[in-house]
Amino acid sequence: MSAQHTELELVAVTKRYGRTVAVDAISHRFNPSVYACLLGPSGCGKSSTLRMIAGHESISDGAILIGKKDVSRRPPAKRGTAMMFQNYALFPHLSVAENVAFSLRMKGEEKTARLKAAGEMLELVDLSHLSDRLPDQLSGGQQQRVALARALITRPQVLLLDEPLSALDPFLRIRMRGELKRLQRELGITFVHVTHGQDEALALADEIVVMNNAVIEQAGPAREVFDRPTTAFVARFLGSHNVIRLDLGSFALRADALALADSGQGQIEASITGVEYQGTHVSVTTRTSDDQEISVLLGDRDFFAKPRNPGESVGLTWDQETLHRLEG
Ligand code: ADP
Repeated sequence: MSAQHTELELVAVTKRYGRTVAVDAISHRFNPSVYACLLGPSGCGKSSTLRMIAGHESISDGAILIGKKDVSRRPPAKRGTAMMFQNYALFPHLSVAENVAFSLRMKGEEKTARLKAAGEMLELVDLSHLSDRLPDQLSGGQQQRVALARALITRPQVLLLDEPLSALDPFLRIRMRGELKRLQRELGITFVHVTHGQDEALALADEIVVMNNAVIEQAGPAREVFDRPTTAFVARFLGSHNVIRLDLGSFALRADALALADSGQGQIEASITGVEYQGTHVSVTTRTSDDQEISVLLGDRDFFAKPRNPGESVGLTWDQETLHRLEG
């Protein structure tokens, strides 16, 4: 695709719906050609942000720059963005090929040219053999590919995806997730993908932007956000971390960085409240003597070398270097 390496930047972007501040002056520069996920709980402002980038929602304040140009006041079709919706929004009476070609039809392109372009896009998403079908003759996963092809035919610099995998069953979701990642790599354009699932964000994103209460809590490379959460919210939301209060303050401690010792032999005393077998791992929940809940994730071999049961007193140990101080 032509337009590559185009930078998307949000500058103090704000969205107000009446008295509700849905997005509160967020600023972020997305690296060019990046797979970015906007991650956060329901209602934190992710979709509003995406719709403002797309131009489907006006911005109340701030600016959206694409390739250094302020596109905030341009109509959706003139921004270099394309949006893939959660429900795919396909036209039921049009064939797969005509659905994909729809935006070209709106631009007045003649039929042969637009169907040729649609054919190329359908090849990209591996659906050439179904181009004459109607949407309701397709599975959910296939409909989603059509929606993708339809968004990509406009040759966007930035593809916006609003919870694109949420309607799929878990098996297909994991397959489509691999597919999206492959497409993004092949096309080399920026993908901005909204999700409330931390596993989805970790699996897909080069860059994760964690939102909470209308603001960005933390943004950065996926591994950095996971491994170095700066706030208790991010540590809890990304999961696999304990937020632990010690004399020196509040810290994040990965569940897999803890180990169990005999009572009296650890840094903190605790009693086991639950043991959950997870196949490769065993998750042990404990309650410390100062009433904090701490989870310990052990490799199955380590756990079964010395199995423990709820009610047992243990010591918790960890390497000081794995403690990570949190703000506030
Ligand atoms: P998310 O995508 O993270 O779930 P949204 O961007 O959809 O969050 O919503 C953020 C906030 O804005 C929520 O409080 C929501 O109720 C509110 N909101 C979203 N859309 C509208 C709207 N069209 N009118 C009024 N309030 C809205």
